Order: sequence, then C-alpha cells, then structure tokens
Amino acid sequence: MAVLADRLTDVVGARTADALASALDLHTVGDLLRHYPRRYAQRGELTDIAGLEIGEHVTVLARVESTTKRPMRSRKGSILDVTITDGQRRLSCAFFGNQTWRERELRPGRTGLFAGKVTAFRRSLQLANPEYELVDSADELSSVDDFLSRIIPVYPAAQGLPSWRISKAVHQTLEMLDEEPDPLPESLRREHDLLSLFEALHAIHRPRSDAELTAARTRLKWDEALAVQLVLAQRRQSSVARPAPACPPKSGGIAEAFDARLPFDLTPGQREIGEELRADLASEHPMNRLLQGEVGSGKTVVALRAMLQVIDAGRQAALLAPTEVLAAQHARSLRDLLGDLAQAGELGAAEHATRVTLLTGSMPAKQRKQALLDAASGAAGIVVGTHALLGEHVSFADLAFVVVDEQHRFGVEQRDALRTRAGDGVSPHVLVMTATPIPRTVAMTVYGDLETSSLRQLPSGRSPIATTVVPAAEKPAWLDRAWQRLREEVGKGHQAYVVCPRIGDEPPSDKTERPAVAVLDVAPELENGPLAGLRIGVLHGRLPSDDKDAVMRAFAEGELDVLVATTVIEVGVNVPNATLMVIMDADRFGVSQLHQLRGRVGRGDVPGLCLLVTEALDGTAARARLAAVESTTDGFELSKLDLELRREGDILGAAQSGKRSGLKLLSLLRDEELIAQSRRVAAQVVSADPDLAEHPGLAALAAQTIDDERAEYLEKS
Ligand code: ADP
Ligand code: MG
Repeated sequence: MAVLADRLTDVVGARTADALASALDLHTVGDLLRHYPRRYAQRGELTDIAGLEIGEHVTVLARVESTTKRPMRSRKGSILDVTITDGQRRLSCAFFGNQTWRERELRPGRTGLFAGKVTAFRRSLQLANPEYELVDSADELSSVDDFLSRIIPVYPAAQGLPSWRISKAVHQTLEMLDEEPDPLPESLRREHDLLSLFEALHAIHRPRSDAELTAARTRLKWDEALAVQLVLAQRRQSSVARPAPACPPKSGGIAEAFDARLPFDLTPGQREIGEELRADLASEHPMNRLLQGEVGSGKTVVALRAMLQVIDAGRQAALLAPTEVLAAQHARSLRDLLGDLAQAGELGAAEHATRVTLLTGSMPAKQRKQALLDAASGAAGIVVGTHALLGEHVSFADLAFVVVDEQHRFGVEQRDALRTRAGDGVSPHVLVMTATPIPRTVAMTVYGDLETSSLRQLPSGRSPIATTVVPAAEKPAWLDRAWQRLREEVGKGHQAYVVCPRIGDEPPSDKTERPAVAVLDVAPELENGPLAGLRIGVLHGRLPSDDKDAVMRAFAEGELDVLVATTVIEVGVNVPNATLMVIMDADRFGVSQLHQLRGRVGRGDVPGLCLLVTEALDGTAARARLAAVESTTDGFELSKLDLELRREGDILGAAQSGKRSGLKLLSLLRDEELIAQSRRVAAQVVSADPDLAEHPGLAALAAQTIDDERAEYLEKS
C-alpha cells in the first residue's frame, strides 16, 4: 500500500517513475495524484481538430480515415501515412520505419487517442511520429480499465509520456492508495459539504459522473485556496507582530500646516482613508496597506498627508515610482503641493519645513552625492526615487515609511525585500498605491498579505473622458479627422498626447505580424504631415534621463503642443491642460493599460477625449476589447474584463504559478466565493494556532504551496 509521501518508484516501477520524474517533475504519489486531467474526453465525441494550435503537445481522440504506405527514399523501410479525423477536419500522422504491424492495427474506422506535437506540413496539420492508443477494440478495453468508463481523462502530457501512460500510472497508484488522515479538519469538511481527499483524488481521475467530478473539483480547490490563504494569514500575522517605528500624529507640525493650506476640500474617501493611515502609522507594528483608486482620485494627496505625519515624528518617508520620469514628476508635484513647506534650509522656508529629495541612478554625480547625503543625514524628510532606491547603497537616517506608487509592477518579492529594509529587525510601514482597480479575488490572493483601502469617488469637478475607437483599416478618413481634431484642440490652447506601442529603435523581429507603430517613425510623419507647424516633443524610456526630464517639463509648461510617447506616460503624469490622447495601434495594449493611459487626459476642467486607433477588424477579439474600453470608464468593470482576457498564471506571477505548487484548479475568475470563504477560515485558524501546530494537515498543505525559496524567505523575515 502507499501514502501520498511515498516515492513513485515503489508504486509504479522504476521505468515509469523515471519517465514521470524527468518529463513532468513528478516524484511522489502525491505529485502524481495532484497531476489532474487537463480535460475529459467523452467516448464517441472526437476531439475538435480545428481547435489545435501549432506547436502544442496534444492528445486527441480521433478516427482513422485512411492509411497509405510509401517507401522511404534514403533508407530501407517505409513511411506510413495515417490520416485521422474528427469527422470534419483531418490531421495527418506519419510513422517511420518498418510498419507492417502498425498498418494492420491502424485500420480505417478505428478510434484511438493520438498524442504528439502539432506541426504544419504543406499547409495541413500534422502529428509527426505520434504515440497512440486504440480505444475501441474489445481487448484494448479490457486491458485498460480507464476506458471502461465513458469519460476518458486526458492528462497534461509530454513527449515520450503520453496521456494514457500517465493514466495507467495514476490508476495503479490509486489502487495502492491508503486512506490517510485528511488535511482538512472534519468540522470544515462537514460545514462545507466536502469530499474527503481520498474520495476526491479517486473521483477527479476516474469520475463516474459529472456530479462526482464537480464535487471532487470543489474539494481540491479548497485545498488550493486554503493553502494560499493560510500562508497569507501567517504572513499577515507575523508581519503585524514585527516591530515598526511608531509615528504618532503631532499637533502643530507640518501635517497640520499642510492641511491648513490645502486649496481644496478632501473627498470623504480621502478623509476616511487618511484616518486609517493615521492610526496605522501610529502603531508600533508595521502597516501593510494597499490603496486603490482610479487615476485622478487623489491618492497622492492621501499619501503625502501620511508622509507628513511621519516627518512630524522626526522620521523619513520614501516614495518609489516605477520609472525615473515618474519619480522626477512626483518630486516636482510633491514640492508644488508643499510650497514653502518643502524649502527647509532655503531662504523663506516655512516653519516646520522639510525637504523633498529626488534620488535616481542617472543623476549627475554631484547632485546624486548631495541627495545621498540628504537621505543619510535626515535632512530629506521625503526621498523620491525608483525601486533602485532600496538598493544597498542608499542609507537613511530613520526610514519609517515607504510609499510605492503603481504597484502593478511591484510584486510580492519586492514587497518582501522592503519589509527588511529598516534594519535592526524593524520593518517600515508600507503603503502601495495602484490606479488599476484590482478584482476582489486578485486582491485576496496576490495581494492577500495587505489590508486594502479604496478611493471610489473622484474629486468633484473632474471632467469626464470620452473614448472613441477609430478603425483605421475600414475607415481611413476617420484617422484624418482625428488629426484635424487634434489641431483644433491645440488651436484652443490645449495639448495632446500621441501614444505608440514601440520606440522604433529595436532590432527587427522575425514575427510575421506587422510591427507596431513606433514613436520614432510617427513623430516625423506627423511633423511633416498632418501636424505640420505644431510643436512636437518625443518621450520614451530610452532617452537619457536629463532629456526625458526636459521634455516632460517643456510639455508641462506648455512649450510643446504634442507629446509623442510610449507608455512611459502611462502612470502618474499630470498635465491638466492636455485634453486629447490618440493611441496608435491601440489593440496592442491591454485593457487596463488603455484605461490607465486615457486617465492622463481630462484632468483639468475641460472634458478629455481619447481616440483608440486600430487596424483590427470588426468582429475580432481585439476590437471587442477596444469596444469595452470605449463603453465604460468604470475601472472595476474593466479590470474584471481584463482578468477574463488574461491567463491567470500571468496574474499570479512567478511566486504562485510554480509548476507544482501553483493553483491548478482554482480560478480567480470563477471561484470568488470559495476564495472568500477560505480566507475567513484561514484567518480564524491562524489567529488561534499561528504555527498550525495543532493542524498538521493544514500545515503540510500550506507548506506545499510555497516553493523552497519562498519558504526560506519566510523563515528569514
Ligand atoms: P492620483 O494619484 O490618484 O492619480 P492625484 O493625487 O495625482 O491622483 O490627484 C489628481 C489631481 O487632483 C491633482 O492635481 C490633485 O491636486 C487634485 N486633487 C486631489 N484631491 C483633490 C480634492 N479632494 N479636490 C480637488 N482636487 C483634488
Ligand atoms: Mg498618482
């Protein structure tokens, strides 16, 4: 008999075990039994060949249509060409070598599973030298028990290890499997009506009905969801337990002076979150909070008020931006907001004044040295930079608070690195801000170690953004009209962005797709064509940072009419006088990115307009995405749509999508309720039993989710 921790060698034999280990990285009984079928073929329902993609390793259930044998030219022997079909389309399989027995076996009319890599051969699809297993003859049926049932599990397979060999190994293993204590406590299973692990593993591999399959999936999803949530709950718990620099609010300091001169009223949301942050920062344990809010909802002001509380406590805050352009812009806008409160050490500084210091890698050496000095001496109350700021070379006098702007580029690993940054076992308070609304499920998993706050209203007086798709292929005249429109905006004294997916100095790619439109091509074309006479600037990530800064400044000060740029302007850039944005090859951008980009216009008191130029044709998926962006400005709705369009692994990122530890069944799109339930359960369990000492099953489950590297890290921190 066998248990989940046993090596496969003892159960399925060395040969199969070796194949499973080398092809699929499966080593134990548990590894194999958690290698779930990718899908289930129904006996009699052939696989749709039209859905196959070139390069994929596939297993198809198909019928032999015809076979022909032809001699091989170079060697002795022959090639057997077998055409298989799903009843509609054909797929050709070529077998090499002496094939007399194979020819006898693969008679027209027979049905089998065929596995191999899909290639294109003379404009038709082919499986080269595939492996196969006939499934219709009486003796095959009795030899492979799996095929007795109507449902045939199809496994993620690999070259040399076809689905049915995996199926046989799974079958063998299940026969040997002992029932062990279930990792999920019985009370939990009863409450949520879950199968035992033993039952679920049997049922997912050899379902006798759809209902049984669904029940098995639900149970196994619970394992996945709970494993992630337990780890997150432990992280929250241990993070909260660490010491942090307490920054109680002080009256009569810079924070109050700033509030007194704010030129507008805070929105109720800003006020409320401000209170949350105030309490968090005063604590002797670190804040770990995610602040989400639409572009322009006023996150920066919220963050700045929190930073001022930290300065009042005699400590420092750092603000991290994803790019140097944004860091420079942030430094400028913080200084603008603070006015003479940011002029410490200068003539005419206000009482309680501090200093906002920009520190980036590409600053001139002298300036950089001064900035480093300001950070180390504590003269800078606020240090603004990119993520490189947290590199080892920068030391702070007393860093207590780190604000990370636009966290969608800032993963779990970076957050982990931050937590150890303040030194002496003390963790700084951390606030991550995002303008991309995060669907609830993603917030609960990927960012589940953070508390979340959401700014849902925009400050009043914000102008709406209208969005229109410009189908350049079908209606070229619309593009002409777009440039005309741009000239009109400029004529009214406004400014415009033209955004392109590419810079234009990249080496040519070997893709057949037309390369996306590039900044370095578009700018001169516009200058010599439809936008002749306008003042056009160019901005992209590979400009030297001085140039970037100069261009941004010129645009901000109205010395340029048009900025032709890549997505470096995606986040944070704030030029209220810019009212029009033309996005070229808009279909090359993601939904959230487009939403983010268009947030750059309509920041002043004039309504913004965003034109999505595309050559994608009506009826394509690309056009559907653009139509969605056109139809709503609700970021939460769009983020859900974006989630549907992206692969979930991409969202979870490296840390949680690992081959074996990742989520195999759990869907961030469809399993919101289950995730929420498991989060509550995990929080309860961990608060009563932080180390899971009384829940060995759950402890093992949690350990499974984190790969070695992460586990090591967690112990360290
Ligand atoms: P976000 O960082 O969320 O995109 P910002 O903090 O940059 O938004 O705010 C966008 C603009 O709105 C800024 O010019 C800011 O000064 C202004 N603003 C912020 N809060 C308010 C408010 N309560 N009322 C009016 N204007 C505000
Ligand atoms: Mg911002």
